[in-house]
Amino acid sequence: MDSAKNSGLYIHIPFCLSKCPYCDFYSSTSIPSIPDFLDALFKEMERYGHRFDPFDTVYLGGGTPSLLSPKQLEDILMNGRKNFHLISNAEITLEANPADLNQSLLESILEIGFNRINIGIQSFDEKVLDFLGRRHSVRQAISAIEASRKAGFHNIGLDLIYGIPGQDMASWFDTLKQAVAFSPEHLSCYQLTFEPKTPLGRRFQAGEFSVPGEELQYEFFMKTSQFLEHAGYIHYEVSNFARGMEYSSRHNQKYWDHSPYLGLGPAAHSFQGNQRWWNHRSLDQYLASVHAGNPPVLETESLTKEQFQLEALYLGLRTKKGISLQDFKVRYGLDLLCAKQNILEKLEEEGLISIQDGRLHPTPTGLAITDSLALI
Ligand code: SF4
Repeated sequence: MDSAKNSGLYIHIPFCLSKCPYCDFYSSTSIPSIPDFLDALFKEMERYGHRFDPFDTVYLGGGTPSLLSPKQLEDILMNGRKNFHLISNAEITLEANPADLNQSLLESILEIGFNRINIGIQSFDEKVLDFLGRRHSVRQAISAIEASRKAGFHNIGLDLIYGIPGQDMASWFDTLKQAVAFSPEHLSCYQLTFEPKTPLGRRFQAGEFSVPGEELQYEFFMKTSQFLEHAGYIHYEVSNFARGMEYSSRHNQKYWDHSPYLGLGPAAHSFQGNQRWWNHRSLDQYLASVHAGNPPVLETESLTKEQFQLEALYLGLRTKKGISLQDFKVRYGLDLLCAKQNILEKLEEEGLISIQDGRLHPTPTGLAITDSLALI
């Protein structure tokens, strides 16, 4: 099904110096465990052999990959190259916390082989950073971006968050304007979500603060899209903007079009053929499995044809380029125009999708409510 597609390699670095109260990603604050983790990671790499080759993207996410030393980062790429076939112009991304970055470190990171840096800026408003429990300041955010540019990065991504309790449109637009002033190649604008198991989610459930209602959220989304498109960015996926499609995230695209990807490290997910599997969401369990010579996989699922179709529809409608009706028919065995004729006509009338040149696209309004579009 996906033999013509290159694979993506995701490596989850499960360490943070402190936990942000809104974050639902798996990480541990047990920093002394890093060498043990790396040892296990290299063993996990060996288990897969050349099953996913070739790779054209590597993404170190987390957690906080920028906590690792240049030598540790270099060892990861070296072991990656030893175990897998990485193509020569692979997109190699490092996720970073602004507090960890300085120019000489960034120069080393670039020299090791990372060609894309994604910095978790979140906001240029000190009060918002405080609310989010981030360990970096606005000053550190600014100097991290400047240092990345000076070090020679030509592909810089910034993550921002909106929809914070008490945040008004003016504060959010201040952040957006400051971000755009650095001309980053990529911007991800996420709406804050309150995951029930996080400290912030519990405070929300206890009624400690209110959050923007649906109408206001829609306004944030649409105004962000309009502002960034006006500033020269392509709104190519619900939360993602690129200064030209050559800067869209090649790695993330793999999650949206059912390309194969291999995820290593605790809580990482993998996908190949019709199989998806994921690792233990616990550093201890991950380490114990790998050191005992077992795969650190918690669970595996096989997607049925119907699940594939539904996912492809859901994921395709999250992207501006949408879905090729012909490709969909060939790959998923469903003629969308026939099978969903009535609902597609209705959505087109409501201005949520358009059908042009054999493709089904979400309109900007459709992108804003993409989760409900997937119910078709
Ligand atoms: S948001 Fe990032 S830095 Fe904060 S706890 Fe989550 S992974 Fe760690």
